Amino acid sequence: MNALAATSRNFRQASRLLGLDSKLEKSLLIPFREIKVECTIPRDDGTLASYVGFRVQHDNARGPMKGGIRYHPEFVIQISTNMEGLGYNQGTWVTSSSKEARSFEFHICSTSIIVNRIDLSLPAIPNLVVWGMLNWSVQGSRWFSHPIQSLVKTGSNQAEPSGSAWFQAVWPVPEPNQVDPDEVNALAQLMTWKTAVADIPYGGAKGGIGCSPGELSNSELERLTRVFTQKIHDLIGTHTDVPAPDMGTNSQTMAWILDEYSKFHGHSPAIVTGKPIDLGGSLGRDAATGRGIVFGTEALLAEHGKSISGLRFVIQGFGNVGSWAAQILHEKGGKIIAIGDVTGAIENPDGIDIPALMTHKNGGGVLKDFKGATVMDMKELLVHECDVLIPCALGGVLHRENAADVKAKYIIEAANHPTDPEADEILSEKGVVILPDIYANAGGVIVSYFEWVQNIQGFMWSEDKVNMELQRYMTGAFKNIKSMCKTHDCNLRMGAFTLGVNRVARATLLRGWEA
Ligand code: GLU
Repeated sequence: MNALAATSRNFRQASRLLGLDSKLEKSLLIPFREIKVECTIPRDDGTLASYVGFRVQHDNARGPMKGGIRYHPEFVIQISTNMEGLGYNQGTWVTSSSKEARSFEFHICSTSIIVNRIDLSLPAIPNLVVWGMLNWSVQGSRWFSHPIQSLVKTGSNQAEPSGSAWFQAVWPVPEPNQVDPDEVNALAQLMTWKTAVADIPYGGAKGGIGCSPGELSNSELERLTRVFTQKIHDLIGTHTDVPAPDMGTNSQTMAWILDEYSKFHGHSPAIVTGKPIDLGGSLGRDAATGRGIVFGTEALLAEHGKSISGLRFVIQGFGNVGSWAAQILHEKGGKIIAIGDVTGAIENPDGIDIPALMTHKNGGGVLKDFKGATVMDMKELLVHECDVLIPCALGGVLHRENAADVKAKYIIEAANHPTDPEADEILSEKGVVILPDIYANAGGVIVSYFEWVQNIQGFMWSEDKVNMELQRYMTGAFKNIKSMCKTHDCNLRMGAFTLGVNRVARATLLRGWEA
């Protein structure tokens, strides 16, 4: 199910529990404004490149709209191949029967998808020619097909009459892909409920540019960010819509937005959050999402008479969120027994030495080269035996195909919508407790709020104050979610949704609709 359909389904379920009027329901669902802009920049080599930028402003009943800007091509994991073998033997073409590739591993580097080790059962024929097709989906919702661009044979069993052949194949990725507008729309809506759950005075928004930031130089990224800001500057503002970092963007991106915006509107530090400290950023903002996840996990575990110390954690994602969550969990005595990111996954049943792993990462090392753990199959990560599973990467990673195999007792949704509604049902039947994204990963936007407040006050808080206030907000929100669970006899996801939707609905009704 696509992200927008899944988010809207959760919203509707909450709306039914709250008994909202259908007209109000419709008005809460439709975004306040959707902005789509063309961003053309000269690349460093002098050629032009065009990208599509989005900002979806979902709702502003409770305050300025708030949410991240992501730079990502949105390619995800669902890939399948269909390969066929053709052999040329003594002047005669021999066609093998059509074969599905039995297994493959792949990685995506924006201009190509490289599939290693395609295992094909083919007749042993000299001068074997193989052709194939790769299908892939964007956010699990649309399928694309592409024929092979190049294929290298890396091994085969020629001595046998038939056997396994190994290939390495490269498929081209089409022109810079768009950030899926449905996806941005869903994420903007999630921000509205998230800020309401956290009880910070904001609405929700989300934006993005369909590009592969890793493929662009720093100056190309700067030009792209500035062009995007020029196109949207009169639709965002300190009291209108306040962007922040998200996947593929960081404090430097916010610094460029701040600078470009200020050319039009004068110096405006509160126009973005997640800025560098030197430009008015908040202490503690960098670690905030990871720290918030840990506070949320503590609140949940305390409910069940447990604590972080001694529990086994598996973390998917080792970027900003995953690495901070891992470090803070480790400090609190949690055992991180497996961790993975786009480069691979590693495990150590005795617990990975996270400070050593951070030193390795900060030195430019990738997970699989870390000496203190063994490499594991990426697909195994989410279904690895553990107490707590924390998906910190893309959405939709827990779905119909893998949910039944999940062994964790608790799932902390550090990513946005990592659990597909079908997986949600399977997991809840298994008794897995899920801490939902609109609460679990709210730490980032909560500290964004503190940053905005500090900018408006013109006064900087200490890091201890930031962390203490973050804990207060996270603990308070958990209590409020639990009370909604009691009132509506529902799980934590619906507890969070009813809490958020109810607050937005109340604010909307109070403001009224008189033109
Ligand atoms: N991108 C983060 C999120 O999805 C932070 C948003 C913000 O700080 O405004 O919650």
